[in-house]
Amino acid sequence: MDARLDEDAEQFAAILDRARALAGDYLDSLDHRPAAATLPDRGLAVTATLPVEGVGALAALDRFSSDYDRYLSASPGAHYFGFVTGGGSPAALAADWLVATFDQNAQLNGDSCAPFIEAQAIDMLRQLLAWPATWTGVCVTGATMANYVGIAMARQWAGKMLGRDIAADGLWGLQPIAVFAGAAHSSTSKALSMAGFGRNALHSLPLLDGRETFDIAALEAALIAHGDAPKIVVASAGTVNTVDFDDLAALAALKQRHPFWLHVDAAFGGIAAASPARRALLAGIEAADSVTVDAHKWLNVPYDCAVAFTAQKHLSLQIEIFRNQSAYLPAPQAVAHNYLHLTPENSRRLRALPLWMSLVAYGQAGFAEIVERNCASAKLLGERIAAHPRFRLAAPVRLNVVCLALREDRIDAASQLAQLCKALHADGTAFVTPSMLDGKPVLRVAICNWRTTDADIEMTCEALFRLADALAMPGGASEPVASEISGETPDTISAQH
Ligand SMILES: *Cc1c(COP(=O)(O)O)cnc(C)c1O
Repeated sequence: MDARLDEDAEQFAAILDRARALAGDYLDSLDHRPAAATLPDRGLAVTATLPVEGVGALAALDRFSSDYDRYLSASPGAHYFGFVTGGGSPAALAADWLVATFDQNAQLNGDSCAPFIEAQAIDMLRQLLAWPATWTGVCVTGATMANYVGIAMARQWAGKMLGRDIAADGLWGLQPIAVFAGAAHSSTSKALSMAGFGRNALHSLPLLDGRETFDIAALEAALIAHGDAPKIVVASAGTVNTVDFDDLAALAALKQRHPFWLHVDAAFGGIAAASPARRALLAGIEAADSVTVDAHKWLNVPYDCAVAFTAQKHLSLQIEIFRNQSAYLPAPQAVAHNYLHLTPENSRRLRALPLWMSLVAYGQAGFAEIVERNCASAKLLGERIAAHPRFRLAAPVRLNVVCLALREDRIDAASQLAQLCKALHADGTAFVTPSMLDGKPVLRVAICNWRTTDADIEMTCEALFRLADALAMPGGASEPVASEISGETPDTISAQH
């Protein structure tokens, strides 16, 4: 055995203790390290010299820590509001450590309890959200992959209607298959590209005024216009900017009149259903054929974990697409926990264990409390923003995301907002990310973390307001308010900056 490896085998426990200490230091630092790291302008090295003789695990841990600790973001912390980022709950984090330790290949090979744990985790998640007992699910790496699984099943279903087994014979020569959506997440286009439909298969439906939900009447007209051709509808249950929901109950009714495959992207919005008070948002979801929900967002499981749900009656379609037969593997049986035949992956980690562990640890009440607390924090932030003279809400606060902008009479509000975002990042108190809403730049504050309390929101407001004041000081870019400058329109003023 290599000398270093041999030495490491001897001191395995000490190595794990060192890793545990590093993890503990990091967790303890979450409240005071910058919410997001600031990297050198030129980024970090992307090449490294492979050592001929290794240094051993303890020295490698030390090198990692001294080289990179300062460049880690506090993304599992209470002040990281970028993208849609959850933190790892204590039970989920502990479980994730064990996943790598046990290193089970989560397949139904008769040699491990792993697939049964995964099946239980999915079953408990289904109960948490009050979704139908007739659904089955499988863990994948994220909502993008869950959307891909749903779209691939829709493709197989559509092929059947056209007399083609697409999994066997491909899409070649078939008429284009229309996919309708409103404010679909970008990963839907990616899934359409991967599935061979092409990104241009997406027909964007008009949205309702001031909303991110599509017009059901426009969908009905489009379905009728497409006659007997198979159709696919991708509904959003929680858009990333404003957490808007397509009307799933109306879609369920429409589906009775004009059949289509209904895929629901409920990546984080679906978790709202953990709180019985919020379930009405998802009423009608039981009519869905496939559903995406992320575990590494609002469920506070570490990356990477999501669940692709499907109605049990479609399990055979799923197996047709993803089955993986070979001489040394048993033929696929149509059971819902035979995961080898249900997703793009073959070998796969037991990523369901953190989900299982946290559902057991915190139960219905625990997740309902996180949802309600995060929504209350978003509401509080919305009130603070709306009451502040420099800011405005760019959209109503529907759930756990706040979209804000500077008041529009302020000249050059767009570049000011970008500066404010940068200043907040550098300040380190909180981390938020920019987005576009109705063609205008906004900042998004997505509150998904089990640690976040109203005190964290007050700290974030204090930093935002302080930095906005500083930017607006004489010498800063914004102080004159456009309406105060006679004879010039806001456009001509901002054009000079
Ligand atoms: C985050 C998100 C996705 C993509 O999820 P990943 O887990 O990053 O793959 C898809 N849809 C919605 C609505 C999302 O919020």
